[in-house]
Amino acid sequence: MSEPRPHEQAWAECLKVIKDNVTPQSFKTWFEPIRPVRLESKVLTIQVPSQFFFEWLEEHYVGLLQKTLKKVIGPTAKLEYNVVVENSNQGNTPYTVNQPSGNSSRQVPNEMGMPIQLGASIKNPFIIPGLKKMNVDSQLNPKYTFDNFVEGECNKLARSAGVAVAQKPGGTAFNPLMIFSPCGLGKTHLAHAIGNMIKQIHRSKVVLYVSAEKFINQYIDSAKNHNSSDFVNFYQYVDVLIIDDVQFFAKKERTQDIFFQIFNHLHQSGKQIVLTCDRPPKDLKDVDERLLSRFKWGLSCDLTTPDFETRLAILENKMYQDGITIDREVVEYLAHNIDSNIRELEGALISVLAQASLTRKQIDLPLAKQMMKNFVKSASREISIDYIQKLVCDFYGIPVEAVKSKTRKREIVQARQIAMFFSKDLTKASLKNIGMHFGGRDHSTVIHACQTVNDLMDTDKKFRQDVDEIEKRIKINTV
Ligand code: ADP
Ligand code: MG
Repeated sequence: MSEPRPHEQAWAECLKVIKDNVTPQSFKTWFEPIRPVRLESKVLTIQVPSQFFFEWLEEHYVGLLQKTLKKVIGPTAKLEYNVVVENSNQGNTPYTVNQPSGNSSRQVPNEMGMPIQLGASIKNPFIIPGLKKMNVDSQLNPKYTFDNFVEGECNKLARSAGVAVAQKPGGTAFNPLMIFSPCGLGKTHLAHAIGNMIKQIHRSKVVLYVSAEKFINQYIDSAKNHNSSDFVNFYQYVDVLIIDDVQFFAKKERTQDIFFQIFNHLHQSGKQIVLTCDRPPKDLKDVDERLLSRFKWGLSCDLTTPDFETRLAILENKMYQDGITIDREVVEYLAHNIDSNIRELEGALISVLAQASLTRKQIDLPLAKQMMKNFVKSASREISIDYIQKLVCDFYGIPVEAVKSKTRKREIVQARQIAMFFSKDLTKASLKNIGMHFGGRDHSTVIHACQTVNDLMDTDKKFRQDVDEIEKRIKINTV
């Protein structure tokens, strides 16, 4: 047997690392089909089956790939793609895309939802010579526009506020504009769309999009290098500042101070500020009150989960953009089954496409059902009262029987009330039914428990942390 060649060996090593960091399904879909082509001067070239495949990797796994490559090949490692061109006259001649591409200063979440900083190509604001206006890279992703941000009841207010702000940045009452929602519902898309539209209408305005994490890291670096005043000057200079995911400012007191200063300056000079957050401002913990009150100055609006029609429209819009046609019944099936998160919805569509293109099968309902097994199972798995009781009791180290018993010991009462609260919140069970599960208590006891938990969450920080932690555990184990 001949020795594996260097690129094969390197790729095999990479695969080992990748395998530990992605789900088996993702590994099978996105990594097994990749073929290593060559390794020259620390540049590994890999072949991928399609442009679409390449884009998916770039969007979802570029951070992981970079980290892995650095680990396996060394700190200067680079990746290039050969893309097999489908349906073209040239047959299957691969073409090459250099990676990382110019636009990779985004932060992409890895499988664990942790953002990975894509270091290399981030424009450093401090090296912009003379701060000439045209030299500020707005860091906007041109892919995210209003045109492809489908309107629905779930985003009506936020969308129209966004358009208003884009037409008259700094000139509306919506300053700051705060957009909030759980993840995957379109905050980042909307934030970029606002920035892109401003750039289009007001060419001379300096627009800057930055994730809160990048902002924090830049500030920390500047403080280390004793040039935080440059940092502040730079940010005070922009006309439109868009900061994504400000919940990451929590507990970062010094960053909050500096942001406060920048915020005030921009606001006073009539500059527009757009913020996004994964929860309403009032629920932000460990953020200074004076900053919170500023967040509330303008308009806060939320994005909620889209209804079936909007989900359908989002899928159709996505297919239209990518020039794909799929049977209506398949699209409906996806829209019907994935109802909580638009990112997942798009992921499902893409998985179906990938599977079809890799196996050269037709996209039909059986294929979609087969592919969706993983998604759908988790999406429709019900959280049961028994399950909630078990997690709450585990958390407090008490036996499950205790919450069903008559005992009125303080810690048991509390666990019982929290379990009732989550049973009401996370299951479809009636109050009566919930009461039955707790040793035959009546519905008013359940109502009282929910009220008590709500009150305590507002007044008792430790209690609230416990409840948040329990909720996390319940959700992690069921989704
Ligand atoms: P968030 O920042 O809230 O986590 P994103 O903005 O990243 O969510 O959205 C997740 C995905 O869903 C993106 O690919 C985005 O383009 C898409 N998306 C969200 N809302 C819409 C919408 N109304 N129309 C079309 N695509 C949407
Ligand atoms: Mg986002």
